[in-house]
Amino acid sequence: MDTITEVKARVYKFGNKKADGNSEMKNLLGGKGANLAEMSAIGIPVPPGFTITTEVCTEYNSLGRENVIEAIKEEVEESIEAIEKVMGTTFGDKENPLLISVRSGARVSMPGMMDTVLNLGLNDEAVLGLVKRTNNERFAWDSYRRFIQMYGGVVLGMKPQTKEDIDPFEEIMEHLKDKRGIQLDTEFTIQDLQDLVYDFKDAVKKQTGHDFPTDPWDQLWGAVMAVFDSWNGNRAIYYRKMNGYPADWGTAVNVQAMVYGNMGLNSGTGVCFTRDAGTGENVFNGEYLIDAQGEDVVAGVRTPQQITKLGSERWAELAKIEEADRAENYPSLEELMPSIYAELNDYQQTLEDHYSDMQDMEFTIQEGKLWILQTRNGKRTGAAMVKIAIDQLKEGVIDEKEALLRIEPNKLDELLHPVFDTNALQRANVIAQGLPASPGAATGQIVFFADEADKYKNTILTRIETSPEDLEGMNIAKGILTARGGMTSHAAVVARGMGKCCVSGAGALKIDYKNRVLRVDDKEYHEGDWISLNGSTGNIIEGKVATMEPELSGEFGEIMELSNNYSTMQVRTNADSPKDAKVARSFGAQGIGLTRTEHMFFEVDRIKAMREMILADTIKGRKHALEDLLPMQRTDFEGIFEAMEGLPVTVRLLDPPLHEFVPHQLATQKELAEDMHISLSAVKNKVAELQEFNPMLGHRGCRLGNTYPEITEMQTRAIIEAALNLKEKGIIAKPEIMVPLIGTANEFIEQKQIIKETADKVFEERNDSVEYQIGTMIEIPRAALMADKIAEHADFFSFGTNDLTQMAFGYSRDDAGKFLAVYLEKGILTHDPFEVLDQEGVGQLVKMGTERGRVSKPNLKVGICGEHGGEPSSVEFCHNTNMNYVSCSPFRVPIARIAAAQAAIKSLN
Ligand code: ADP
Ligand code: MG
Ligand code: MG
Repeated sequence: MDTITEVKARVYKFGNKKADGNSEMKNLLGGKGANLAEMSAIGIPVPPGFTITTEVCTEYNSLGRENVIEAIKEEVEESIEAIEKVMGTTFGDKENPLLISVRSGARVSMPGMMDTVLNLGLNDEAVLGLVKRTNNERFAWDSYRRFIQMYGGVVLGMKPQTKEDIDPFEEIMEHLKDKRGIQLDTEFTIQDLQDLVYDFKDAVKKQTGHDFPTDPWDQLWGAVMAVFDSWNGNRAIYYRKMNGYPADWGTAVNVQAMVYGNMGLNSGTGVCFTRDAGTGENVFNGEYLIDAQGEDVVAGVRTPQQITKLGSERWAELAKIEEADRAENYPSLEELMPSIYAELNDYQQTLEDHYSDMQDMEFTIQEGKLWILQTRNGKRTGAAMVKIAIDQLKEGVIDEKEALLRIEPNKLDELLHPVFDTNALQRANVIAQGLPASPGAATGQIVFFADEADKYKNTILTRIETSPEDLEGMNIAKGILTARGGMTSHAAVVARGMGKCCVSGAGALKIDYKNRVLRVDDKEYHEGDWISLNGSTGNIIEGKVATMEPELSGEFGEIMELSNNYSTMQVRTNADSPKDAKVARSFGAQGIGLTRTEHMFFEVDRIKAMREMILADTIKGRKHALEDLLPMQRTDFEGIFEAMEGLPVTVRLLDPPLHEFVPHQLATQKELAEDMHISLSAVKNKVAELQEFNPMLGHRGCRLGNTYPEITEMQTRAIIEAALNLKEKGIIAKPEIMVPLIGTANEFIEQKQIIKETADKVFEERNDSVEYQIGTMIEIPRAALMADKIAEHADFFSFGTNDLTQMAFGYSRDDAGKFLAVYLEKGILTHDPFEVLDQEGVGQLVKMGTERGRVSKPNLKVGICGEHGGEPSSVEFCHNTNMNYVSCSPFRVPIARIAAAQAAIKSLN
């Protein structure tokens, strides 16, 4: 946009029980502005004001300050007049000045991320007018010093000079407090406040080279532009990134008449919640301060008091304060100002009823009159989210669909993993930041090698990256930390599967395996040192942090139950062990969508047989080794089938490049040579032979089974025999054999042939049979293109979107770490495509594959088993693509269930 041509309103007024806007207009007015308008319209006492739209912020970013002022000047002047009329004061007047606040407000609430200025309009003359008008000298000067402080920080850039410094204004105040021997801001005398104003202005002049602006209109424009600028401040950018909000939303600016909480003992300010944001309990609660303004409560200038009597008593109990002492020194608002409390209590109920959701509100009391300054749907923990949704459903406030839509699927994670004690976290020393790869909390001693994961009782396996060889160690460790790799790196995928805490891709870590030391900045951590990982935030913390086991509430079960009423897609799990299968089943998994057989080969006694198989030069040698593997695989399958009794279990045939299984360390190579009675050089040669330029595109997937059919034979036999063994015990197994990585129909047909022949043979031997299916993964783009031909032969398709993404983008998953971060930073990509399915591009292949497959087989069963199967937006896509199921790691099953129900509900509307 380079010219201003539209004649659309850029400014929306509110106040005096009227408003131009309403709560539906959050995109245009921001959340704060939209709700101020709505509150005003429904008769809640809100100081009058107006909102400059988010579109103006976007205009500002392209057109600059002067053009934007030009464009909105008239509307703003007219709106200021409207405020003056209601308040009976005049902006810029010396005798009876109107003071205003200038507040940011994006479409989603970003508490504390952007800036606000209070008491704007004051100068050396207006402050005297205010003194006369209010007869309250202290209040007037206190407001003036607050204004200079906030305006100086927000608009004039008065910030600490170095990271060791404190805020320049705070420093001046601290200095004065020391000199006067006082503790609190409220102890300043009028003279002190006047001195502060003088010193503050002086500091501004010294640091910026300019006088503090005295003209209220200059002040106003300065503040409006500073709010626009704060949208692109570091804090806001970081917050946006964390939550995936786009930069082009922009922020609105709210300009509003000041109401004063700092006018003495009959005034105050506070924040309150209609329900408990931590637990979800339906109790009104909050905090307040007498004789204070705005952010004093949040900033912790003084310790705030509780609003309700009940809250006060609970607080005193924690603080170990006697009831008599409490009632006298820390009265609740309920006790101190009963009628104000009653009014506030009415409004909180009105607002919660109106929005039918838990509200987080700000209020100010000016000389016995209550004003509401903000309301929004309150942020809450995962536990509170679930409880409030279920409670409100039972209260009849919302219906089942709405209750389900209230759940932010990803937040359910918090409920499932052990968590850090919140109090302990507040004291934690965060040494570095990685990706929150697998949620949870882990504390342990550092080890650098997987085979030393049991060196101490609790360990954090700290690696540059992990490999399949590390699996066992990963299983033993309490948490996994890697310097490299993204959200779909080996470490991350495996950790999520295990439900184990993992922080990955912490680039700041310098890991020195040789000296067994981890360096971060100039600090060193040695093997055996204690660290803690917060898998939900990616924080890496020095030392121990206490954890607590999560408790699954009754409401959790209820919301899960509800999801079944709506979802049309099934949710299966990816599980490689009976333990994982059971966990997933307890979370409501309706089958297994992916069992990776290779994971079973990495356990100590099996890896040997596996290696012998790989190193064998003849079919005979290979078959011999496979015979050793057969009983082990069979037992594994029996365990998994039993855990999933009656439900379908998809087993994928061997998939990874063989190279991953052979030993790369000299000692292990020697051992293997001895075991196999061959020379060390023979082992070395074989390892070298298996080396590939591009293993991901190399000898793997069905290419293994097609070149070594005896592997497919053995695995099929193990699967079918396991099912038959269970049948004898009266347990129903429903195996679905899945061929990986096909690109042509013939690759599949060949494998299907072997599977069928082997199964028939086993049936004949046992004189019994079981039902089973043979299907394939669609993970090579060509397979998606040829889906109609392939579907003629397949019982089912399962989209392997990890490989499909890798191949469609041409990004190697193991190397993408080098550029993906930069791409995300620069906005070349909006999401990591390995995390969130690229619906536009890769999604076309999925859609096409599904549609073409169903052209030749209308009832073809279609699912997804990539990491995307547990990511809510991708689950919605799968629903819209008419898939039969998604499959994801056990701990994501509840998330996928809710996401599937939400997708179904959304498509009903
Ligand atoms: P944030 O989004 O960081 O909460 P706000 O714009 O809500 O920032 O304002 C910060 C503080 O100033 C809040 O406590 C708010 O209630 C208070 N405040 C804002 N505008 C006014 C006003 N017009 N009168 C009195 N207090 C105000
Ligand atoms: Mg606020
Ligand atoms: Mg694959």
